[in-house]
Amino acid sequence: MDFSQIPYQINIGLVIVDRDLKVIFWNNWMAMHSGIKDEEIIGHNLLEFYSNLDNVRFLKNFRSVISFGNLSFFSQKLHKYLFPFNTTTSFDTGFEYMQQNCTMGPMRDKDNGEINSVYLTVQDVTDLASYEKKLVEANMLDGLTGVFNRKYLNSVIEKEFERHVRYSRALCFLMLDIDFFKNINDNYGHQFGDFVLKELSARISSALRDVDSFGRYGGEEFCCVLPETDIKFAVAVAERLRQVVVDEKFINGSSSIDVTISIGVSASCDKVSTPEMLIRSADEALYKAKETGRNKVVMMDEE
Ligand code: GH3
Ligand code: MG
Ligand code: MG
Repeated sequence: MDFSQIPYQINIGLVIVDRDLKVIFWNNWMAMHSGIKDEEIIGHNLLEFYSNLDNVRFLKNFRSVISFGNLSFFSQKLHKYLFPFNTTTSFDTGFEYMQQNCTMGPMRDKDNGEINSVYLTVQDVTDLASYEKKLVEANMLDGLTGVFNRKYLNSVIEKEFERHVRYSRALCFLMLDIDFFKNINDNYGHQFGDFVLKELSARISSALRDVDSFGRYGGEEFCCVLPETDIKFAVAVAERLRQVVVDEKFINGSSSIDVTISIGVSASCDKVSTPEMLIRSADEALYKAKETGRNKVVMMDEE
């Protein structure tokens, strides 16, 4: 049997380079995914074709394999990919490029044992990474609106509270509730109600900073964690959110309605010394906003 065919035909990428990164071997898999034939790349420096590999991390690993003969692993989790190849799957994987697990190892001269070249293997793990990504997202995102879900928000609140305690950073919290949402469902149907939840989530998400975490706490209640924010600024943010909802009508099909929200604002302080108290204080302020007319922002009692 002719085993020498295996490196060419095997269903993973195999590349061999010499000590100067000049390509010696480029198998069929690499040719197929790169669109570069072996005769085009053999004899050339790998970095001429893949300048993204001209970085400290890759070169340090390469030198280490050359000098010490160790194996080196580039995991998809850390590096995503070494070779920017298109994905081959027909469905949307959520990745721009093929996700790869790669290894690099030494090849020794048969006679004197010296390392004279290095092999690289490239394995396509896009399907697996995509599945894992979707699982992670499903676990942290709300199915209807695509914003964070309650479970994930609770973990953010815990984490930010710890940071606030450890580094004495300001921390604020907003609890938002759609006014008379039951009427919207009753008068325009549940589907229109769902549309309002989605549109409102989109409007609010785009009005916040990247460091803020916004999500659906349940039903038609949403909340927002504002790190490094004092209460005056948080009230101003809440007012802006109220405006982005009330300013433009919600239009879907032939239905067009005005939607308003009420917002309770809380801040960590001596009186509010746990994540639970932060949530409860915002909830109480929200209740006050509802009691005193809705479509407004109310700050928690500070005394
Ligand atoms: P308030 O101004 O006091 O907040 O009144 P409200 O009508 O907004 O509040 P209430 O708690 O009476 O009603 C909330 C409604 O939200 C009732 C529930 O059917 C509806 N709801 C909860 N989750 C969803 C959802 O996912 N989709 C839709 N369409 N409606 C939902
Ligand atoms: Mg409501
Ligand atoms: Mg409610």
